[in-house]
Amino acid sequence: MNQPNFDLAVVSPHPDDAEMWCGGLLAKMAALGRSTAIVDLSEGELGSRGSVQLRAKEAAQASAELSVKQRFQAGLPDGRINPADEEQVDKVVAVLREVRAEVLVVPYEQERHPDHSAASRLLRRAVFLAGLVKFKAGGVGLRPWATKQLLFYPMRVQAAPTFIVDTSEFQTQKLAAIKAYGTQFGLVGNGPATLLSSELSLQSIETRDRFFGAMIGVSHGEPYLALSPLRVADPVDFFRNNSTFSALLFPERI
Ligand SMILES: [Zn+2]
Repeated sequence: MNQPNFDLAVVSPHPDDAEMWCGGLLAKMAALGRSTAIVDLSEGELGSRGSVQLRAKEAAQASAELSVKQRFQAGLPDGRINPADEEQVDKVVAVLREVRAEVLVVPYEQERHPDHSAASRLLRRAVFLAGLVKFKAGGVGLRPWATKQLLFYPMRVQAAPTFIVDTSEFQTQKLAAIKAYGTQFGLVGNGPATLLSSELSLQSIETRDRFFGAMIGVSHGEPYLALSPLRVADPVDFFRNNSTFSALLFPERI
């Protein structure tokens, strides 16, 4: 009755955000046998390069690279994502109730792109409302859904992470998924030069992942912030298996 449909889902304001910032996590979860999903809030129709059709094809290719089981589309307007728009909130509640992800990963609020910070605030509302029995959205048959933990992924801002996921073994897969967006990253077609399409783009993602990896003593990592404090039943057991210091200083012990 209250079964999840997916172990983990990443919400992406535009197709390609999920791959750029959570590609390592998605690849790793799939490799561990978890079922994953991506929820695109918009089709990215305001993107300076490419078209909605091309971007949808690229998104399908990127999902395949990361073994993402299913991709959902919430149908919000690119450039006009608005947490105060009740119609938009209803649409997202309906999608969340369809996806039923145990762990939900959404954008961090303090972002430069207005859609990214708006998406974060909208998700905070929608995630809460999706769990209310009496909140009706998405028609009959969609039962309430409460996610077990809401995680935030920072993009172009620096935020102190609650934890960093070791994604070292999945960097090649992550970069392949990002490169699937050939139009956005200036790899195919023409269009105005953007920050995304410059050479710096892929380099900066690689550098960032190496930076967060260095913080936990591995080659690549992705940072996440949790909405609620983490409940740890046995700290000794937890840190025995997840010690940054022993990985850095005493590699022979692990
Ligand atoms: Zn975006």
